[in-house]
Amino acid sequence: MSEVQILASVETFLQRQHGHFIHGQHLEVDRRRIELINPATEQVVSSIAVGNQQDVDAAVHSAHDAFLNAWANTSSYERGQKLNKLADLVEQHAEELAQLETLTTGKLIHLARHLEVAQTAVFLRYFAGWATKIHGQTMQPSIPSMNGEKYTAYSIRQPVGVVAGIVPWNFSLMIGCWKIGSALTTGCTIVLKPSEFTTLSLLRLAELAIEAGIPAGVINVVTGTGETGQYLINANHIKKVSFTGSVPTGIAIGQQAMKNDLTRVSLELGGKNAAAILADANLDEILPTLLQATFVHQGQVCAAPERFFVHQSKYDEFVEKVTGAIQQIKIGSPLDESSMFGPLSNQPHFEKVKHYLDIANQNDQVICGGQVIQGTGYFVEPTLLKVQGIDDPLFIEETFGPVVDVIPFESDDELIRMMNHSRFGLTASIWTNDLAKALRLIPQIEAGSVWVNMHTFLDPSVPFGGVKASGLGREFSDAFIEDYTELKSVMIRY
Ligand code: NAD
Repeated sequence: MSEVQILASVETFLQRQHGHFIHGQHLEVDRRRIELINPATEQVVSSIAVGNQQDVDAAVHSAHDAFLNAWANTSSYERGQKLNKLADLVEQHAEELAQLETLTTGKLIHLARHLEVAQTAVFLRYFAGWATKIHGQTMQPSIPSMNGEKYTAYSIRQPVGVVAGIVPWNFSLMIGCWKIGSALTTGCTIVLKPSEFTTLSLLRLAELAIEAGIPAGVINVVTGTGETGQYLINANHIKKVSFTGSVPTGIAIGQQAMKNDLTRVSLELGGKNAAAILADANLDEILPTLLQATFVHQGQVCAAPERFFVHQSKYDEFVEKVTGAIQQIKIGSPLDESSMFGPLSNQPHFEKVKHYLDIANQNDQVICGGQVIQGTGYFVEPTLLKVQGIDDPLFIEETFGPVVDVIPFESDDELIRMMNHSRFGLTASIWTNDLAKALRLIPQIEAGSVWVNMHTFLDPSVPFGGVKASGLGREFSDAFIEDYTELKSVMIRY
């Protein structure tokens, strides 16, 4: 095993006494601290402060001031330029950011480099392009004219104000930058609350934003737990909450936001995503892509499939080939470039996945995998399960881990009924060369995204978000604009 060398700049950053990032500077605070644990070694790598009401108020005050002044006085062209400059700096510091992510989340280093960090730059550039393209419309009112007067009307889109961005632990940097990009390009400012498990990459990014010429106060980062997040969503001047995380937290935040004078809220939540493998699918062709989409980042991807529906005629072949492929997956240190599969990201999540594996083992549902790997680190095996009907908790509950069910189906009606038997509706996929059949199935599937012959691919030009309990609102494409701007109507009589 050979691990990549940790950069000196990363070592130095880890050793800092981290505080918050408020009004363009690192703010040391004397607060309760949380240790950040490397999930591969269970060693403490750094610690963060748990932000309190006072810290949150200072960050929101700074963001509000920047919204009214520095950022309001920055032209749309300049906003785009600064986001592009931030993307340049992300690329220049790619290895440093990737190592910070790997050390705190257990994400494979090549995934941190080529997905998390590289895509962060791609998304920032995409949002940068929107800065100069946000506009209203002109309308022709139909009010009757009694005395020759005329009317015209137009709409303008204005930034909502200060955004609270609450971020989960699985892709902290990238998801944080989805929120930063959406907010900054529309003219909003932001206070981010990263996950307490993986905070460092966003703290570092906030420093790079200053280097990119983004004025102090436009991006603030307050670190801490859910309690800190609560202070943030309830703070004065928060006009929108953009939350990504679990369904229970999302629903509680949505309810709270509604109580706070209808604060706007967008919720990107969990899923129990389905992949439907139709009778004509060539398994040798599709399995590498399907399994990569399933087990990327140890299955800790909101969009990844957790339920495989396989046509009865292909079921035995599918189970045999998936079992063979899973056994080839090399589990190892996330800092080893040859590893194909690393640890789960944190101890509470490890306990949660272990709980599901225990149930599956007790009920004799494991087809392959199913074991916790003994020793140091939060490692479990990639796992394929059979389920005991569609009301089995393993069929219903999101594990958010490398645990996937396989279920046979016979007819299209049965397939759709089982796929939609879920409170979630984030993503789904159909694997087939029968395009006519796929086109007939797509409208019947209750999911925000449906892929054909692919899964778990997010692109900034394609809207993303969930239906049912998987969320509210859409990110990317032009869909985010509505969430981050107010539409003001102007009517003129002349
Ligand atoms: P989580 O809901 O536990 O926490 C998410 C964030 O919310 C963290 O920063 C946390 O500190 C904060 N938080 C917790 N309680 C809070 C409260 N009461 N008020 C304000 N903030 C609070 O989720 P997680 O475990 O970090 O992430 C995993 C979940 O996120 C999974 O369900 C996954 O499917 C989902 N997810 C969804 C998407 C998406 O785009 N749909 C993307 C990634 C992850």
